[in-house]
Amino acid sequence: MRRCLVAGNWKMNTTRDEAVELAGALSERFEEPGEVDVMVAPPFPWLDTIASVLADSAVSLGAQNAWHEPPGAFTGEVSLQMVREVGCEWVILGHSERRHVIGESNQLVREKVDAALSSGLQVILCVGETLEEREAGETETVLDEQLAGSLDLIDADRLESLVLAYEPVWAIGTGLTATPDQAESAHAHLRKQLASRYNPGVGDATRILYGGSVKPENAAELIGQVDVDGALVGGASLSVESFIGIIEAV
Ligand code: PEP
Repeated sequence: MRRCLVAGNWKMNTTRDEAVELAGALSERFEEPGEVDVMVAPPFPWLDTIASVLADSAVSLGAQNAWHEPPGAFTGEVSLQMVREVGCEWVILGHSERRHVIGESNQLVREKVDAALSSGLQVILCVGETLEEREAGETETVLDEQLAGSLDLIDADRLESLVLAYEPVWAIGTGLTATPDQAESAHAHLRKQLASRYNPGVGDATRILYGGSVKPENAAELIGQVDVDGALVGGASLSVESFIGIIEAV
């Protein structure tokens, strides 16, 4: 039985005070582990502070990205070791904003996934098609390429620490949400790919989150789909009420 995970990606949002307030409210609400795993990924500069705020709670801490090389001459980057040392258990990799705005390739994502798993972090690996790709009927081809490209170096026994997130690019931050059928179809396809690439056990066990304009109002129906195991939430994770509403719906 796969445990649901709801992860909040705060992106490049919040002041320090807002971040502390948000994390404080979550920490109070989720003191003990419940039926759903909860994680938040604040901006890098707030990680240390938020790690303290969440210390006595069941809410895990994640980073939104990291660099895969050992510490050294990589101006402006943050290493996986730093992310771990500051208290993160998770790192989000291959987010569409990193792929499409910053220009990260499948190959770079693959190296990051490999290094992140080796460093002991749990990974949320994001995949998803653009609107043009969906309209051209290429959704499954794009998902297959991203999955194969990003997991090329990863053996089955390391996938226990990896969660996939299906995030259609056209649904991220746009208010457009995949219908439950569209989400289920993509998730079922990804699960089938995992089963054939590795084995049926990996297909069954890997958690696959949906991301793209998830709100308290649509969360239950999306997560009610057989192959949807939680949500990666952007905008709605910045409001305590909405984020808790989504977790409660799950
Ligand atoms: C995201 O950034 O991963 C995301 C899903 O954003 P939003 O919920 O705002 O669409």
